[in-house]
Amino acid sequence: MTVAQIVSPRLMRIGGGAVNQVAEVLATFGLSRPLVVTDPWMVSSGTIERCLAPLRKAGIAAQVFSDTVPDPTDTVVEAGVAILLSGAFDCLIGFGGGSPMDTAKAMAILAAAPPGTKMRQFKVPAQADAAKLPVICIPTTAGTGSEATRFTVVTDTETEEKMLIAGLGALPLAALVDFELTYTVPPRITADTGIDSLTHALEAYVSKRANPHADSLALSAMRLIGSSLRRAFHHPRDAAAREAMMLGAMQAGLAFSNSSVALVHGMSRPIGAHFHVPHGLSNAMLLPAVTEFSLNAALPRYAEAARAIGVARREDADQLAGAKLLEELRALNQELQVPTPRGYGIAADEWERRLPVMAQQAIASGSPANNPRVPTEEEILALYRRVYG
Ligand code: NAD
Repeated sequence: MTVAQIVSPRLMRIGGGAVNQVAEVLATFGLSRPLVVTDPWMVSSGTIERCLAPLRKAGIAAQVFSDTVPDPTDTVVEAGVAILLSGAFDCLIGFGGGSPMDTAKAMAILAAAPPGTKMRQFKVPAQADAAKLPVICIPTTAGTGSEATRFTVVTDTETEEKMLIAGLGALPLAALVDFELTYTVPPRITADTGIDSLTHALEAYVSKRANPHADSLALSAMRLIGSSLRRAFHHPRDAAAREAMMLGAMQAGLAFSNSSVALVHGMSRPIGAHFHVPHGLSNAMLLPAVTEFSLNAALPRYAEAARAIGVARREDADQLAGAKLLEELRALNQELQVPTPRGYGIAADEWERRLPVMAQQAIASGSPANNPRVPTEEEILALYRRVYG
């Protein structure tokens, strides 16, 4: 008998205006002294007020740590921990995209460890189950699903490795999932984050660690994302598309958190770490080629994914549905203007020089081992060369 372990935040409030209930959610858990972790744009644009105003109204004057960076680093997490330990905080609020949310989660984990502990001590296969303070997440992109996952991703600045850190310590206590916060996300970031969630759902569904509960979330997420990503990209104020994307991203997060990601993510993290390509974009660069590589190892699953996304008909045979999926992933990249690594400006010699380390880091992350077709190091190198462009 196979037993699946399922985890999710203790409380989620989902819907337009959910962020206005942040003080109420804190009060539910007897919390009142949050440190809000966000990024500089949230402060300069005034967006952070969407979180601070309802707190203030409830008499809570929250301190803000806004020095987070895209793709959080160990040094930023350490700076955040110093602030966390200098005050009498009783919780963290991660407000923003995956980067601020992951920073908040990593701060909670690192702060629980003895002084001098380094973030790399928690990277998989280590288990990061302890957290100093509970984390409440409020996503402002429809992408990572980090608000509902047991993961945080932190870059080791010494080795330039994007480390996957997993455990209950990274699982938020609560999440406020409010699609109205995503209206301001520009098309490029809508595309990158949207393809990130599509990849989460697809990889969770074809993963060797798939299970019936995660399957239902992944299929639902693919239906929502398949029908709304293009609309959200072309029409940023389309409420129905934004709402579907936000719900889809969260469900995709729950799906892969309770199954796993696979080869796309394994190969994508090194591209992000070495060349500073946004996470969703590096996923998108890989998705069609890696899906083609994996297709026949889990054809019925890929075919069902194509039907959920809405590009294959129920009566299509699996082989045809699989072919339609590949066609759709290529068409999506074209419509959402996803460049190749070469088109992104990465020099051919630099790409080639770093490939061996990137392939080793991809394998060490453990994600490729969950792929329906487990690649050799040579095959990973060949895939990197193939997508370069
Ligand atoms: P991000 O958080 O880095 O944000 C990207 C950009 O979008 C930033 O400039 C930010 O200011 C801007 N932005 C965010 N919300 C906005 C809004 N409402 N309006 C306008 N601009 C807005 O990007 P992301 O893709 O959300 O997160 C990426 C990070 O998440 C990566 O480090 C990735 O590895 C990680 N990740 C984590 C998990 C997990 O489970 N923990 C899963 C997938 C990815």
